[in-house]
Amino acid sequence: MNNKIFLDNASTTKIDQTVNELISKINLDDFYNPSALYHESVLIKQKIENAQLTIAKALNVESKNIIFTSGATESNNLAILGSVTAKKNAEYIFSSGEHPSVYNVAKFLEQKGASVKFVKLTENGTVDLDDLKNKLSPNTHFVSIMFVSNETGAINDIQAISKIIKSYNPKIIFHVDGVQAFGKIQCDLSKLGIDAFSLSSHKFHGPKGVGALYYKNLNSLKPQILGGGQQLNFRSGTENVSGILGMELACSIAQTKMQESFQKVSNFRKIFINKIEQNLSDVAYQINQSTTANSPYILSISFKGLKSEVLMHMLEDEGVIVGTGSACSSKKQENRVLQSMGKNADFIKGNVRISFSRLNTLEEIEKASDIFTKVVQKLKQNILGK
Ligand code: PMP
Repeated sequence: MNNKIFLDNASTTKIDQTVNELISKINLDDFYNPSALYHESVLIKQKIENAQLTIAKALNVESKNIIFTSGATESNNLAILGSVTAKKNAEYIFSSGEHPSVYNVAKFLEQKGASVKFVKLTENGTVDLDDLKNKLSPNTHFVSIMFVSNETGAINDIQAISKIIKSYNPKIIFHVDGVQAFGKIQCDLSKLGIDAFSLSSHKFHGPKGVGALYYKNLNSLKPQILGGGQQLNFRSGTENVSGILGMELACSIAQTKMQESFQKVSNFRKIFINKIEQNLSDVAYQINQSTTANSPYILSISFKGLKSEVLMHMLEDEGVIVGTGSACSSKKQENRVLQSMGKNADFIKGNVRISFSRLNTLEEIEKASDIFTKVVQKLKQNILGK
């Protein structure tokens, strides 16, 4: 690739070099179909079972409950659609801040005639717990709330949320989209009281097109992809062997380096914010973050009167890549999540998301933060004539 500074790590991350090497080796040496009966295939099957174990350990759950998927979009679809019940009047609750791979499934259920409720966000970008309490009812069957917002990095208090849900009715299925949390912060599912959890390999330096779903009560999960009956019939299709084993290695590395990476990106975020505070005091901006707990991997910032896309392209011209909201929906002008947080439209239009990874260097961050403040000043002068 080129030598641009990549600060859109919430959209995807660069694959770890050792993971890339492993994948290439597996594709050449271990290309067998894990469902076949000869020795080579049996060995591959064992490697896949080991990968289940590694992911399960990272989540502190049992390995039989890990299903490999093509990524978190599929994991989220499987968790939601696979939990749908035929029970009359069953209700489904989602937060308003969910990623499109949850939100649009919720909308789909709504169109199909299901009773779907959306919980409000606070101005912190976290779920409004009072609104959640109000929305729970004796008919609530399923709740889906993300761990860390991909837009702002706001961290939901999953333990508190689970307590609210489970003390209301322990039978409610609680699903968490853990994509922006897994490999970055501790995700001890047995402590958190979660029934289903989605994760995606390419967000933690693994390959794209592979992910996993943890699902606690497999007896009640309805498969969404039918076929040869692989993965105990929960997800048919020949397993993405090199992807799964690549994800396993990426997971092990992320777990080992979790604390070190957390400190590293926390420092990066601080440097960026300091630079902005020092150099843009005359610019109207807002940092969209939770005052209670926010992921240091994400810095969402909105500038009044500026256009995200223009700012993003000017930064790109200077060699710095940032994001403009969720990459999956970045073509849309509006930003549903920031709107739900009650942010002003003038600010929302000028929102950019800077997201870090352990593969960024201090030198990159110092250079990028310098470029960033200079570009904002220039744009402000051009547009606002000030
Ligand atoms: N959920 C969240 C919170 C995400 O950030 C993403 C990726 N943008 C997804 C789900 C979808 O993941 P995948 O790309 O693996 O389908």
